[in-house]
Amino acid sequence: MAGEDNKKHYRLLSCNEASKHHFERAANKVKIDRQHRSWLKIPFREIAVHLPVVMDDGSLKIFEGYRVQHNNARGPHKGGIRYHPEVSIDHVRGLASWMTWKTALLNLPLGGAKGGVKCDAKNMSEGELERLTRKYTQAISVDIGPYQDVPAPDVNTDEKVMAWMMDEYSKLRGYNPAVVTGKPVDLGGSPGRKDATGRGVASIVEHWANSNNYKMAESTAAIQGFGNVGYYTAHHLNEMGCKIVAVSDTGAAVVNEDGFDVEKLFRHKQETGSVAGCPGSTTLESSEIFSVRCDFLIPAALENAITKDNLADIKAAVIFEAANGPTCPLVEPELAEKGITIVPDILTNSGGVVVSYFEWVQNLQQFSWTAEQVDLELQRKMKNAYQRVVDKASEKKVSLRIAAYMLAIEKVLSAARTRGAY
Ligand code: NAD
Repeated sequence: MAGEDNKKHYRLLSCNEASKHHFERAANKVKIDRQHRSWLKIPFREIAVHLPVVMDDGSLKIFEGYRVQHNNARGPHKGGIRYHPEVSIDHVRGLASWMTWKTALLNLPLGGAKGGVKCDAKNMSEGELERLTRKYTQAISVDIGPYQDVPAPDVNTDEKVMAWMMDEYSKLRGYNPAVVTGKPVDLGGSPGRKDATGRGVASIVEHWANSNNYKMAESTAAIQGFGNVGYYTAHHLNEMGCKIVAVSDTGAAVVNEDGFDVEKLFRHKQETGSVAGCPGSTTLESSEIFSVRCDFLIPAALENAITKDNLADIKAAVIFEAANGPTCPLVEPELAEKGITIVPDILTNSGGVVVSYFEWVQNLQQFSWTAEQVDLELQRKMKNAYQRVVDKASEKKVSLRIAAYMLAIEKVLSAARTRGAY
């Protein structure tokens, strides 16, 4: 029976359950009436589509696609598109709500949404991915738009996918680059968008280090996931002097106590398809990334990376959630008991949506900013959000996560109340 209780206690929460778990705990600390409390938890609109796509071998395959628009009290819905075999409506629901809290926390005039297609993108050809993207865009085209809902890249989608989405939408509804962000710069993308999430993560790490007596040049980091967010986080941390002592992808973890040359590691992954076997490093099982001795542990892959299975192994002082929802909420009390701080996802990885917002603004203005201007504004926003979260946590004596959610809920609540039942 005790064993069963333990299992129940540690059941992994879905993204949607995790998001609601954090929302409830923060909402308990905010003055919120019952009606708004119920309203802010549920999505405004959920779209499910079935997409027939001709595959390279001539067969017809039907894919499931979703777009969930969680809340637009503060502005048009905003959020990425994920291509992954684990995508489901409930998964997308949770990811969409995280976008509402993230845009509110960063004080962007945007709401929250997320989309996804259940597919094995890594084993599809470029032609298949393009046909799938165009079908998906056609299917959701009436519900997206520059003032309605603005998609962006997420796991297994990139600037090429955003270019196809922009092109397909423009064919159907007239040329409008502001319909998606994360586009190539030549098609109205913003300088600095590609590395913005990693740039933002590195900036949050630096602010935390400065206020906690860590010197970047004497600190070490281990990063789970070496895709867009993981690689650019490693790149920018390295530029700040921080040693990247371990990196993992789905195939392996590699460790180098002297610190990786991040660009060499990146080239190795491009050439071989994995970080495994990178010269000068030791190759371990992918899951062993969590037991590496380091100051900063940075999960930058998928949800539920930190669970009861690796909790005891973690030796880092602080976890920076570069991925969305990488820490199972039910193990957070034990991490706190171990003295491990969590800097929450809605703050840590918000650099991507900040520069997406800048891209949207540039498209609407039909005026391009310089890379320097984008970086300056990004740094300003990240610093401001970090300080507000730290101040709120200290004022209310709550964790950084609860403080971040409290700030976000207060913003959305204020907009929803002021607009009325819009
Ligand atoms: P990506 O597809 O570019 O990279 C994901 C990486 O994670 C890949 O290298 C993959 O091999 C790795 N991975 C997957 N499962 C793993 C595992 N079990 N162990 C180790 N590595 C694993 O995706 P991304 O855009 O870098 O997104 C990563 C995370 O960051 C996601 O949670 C995403 O929602 C979040 N995020 C992304 C952005 C963005 O701008 N791309 C913005 C905010 C948040």
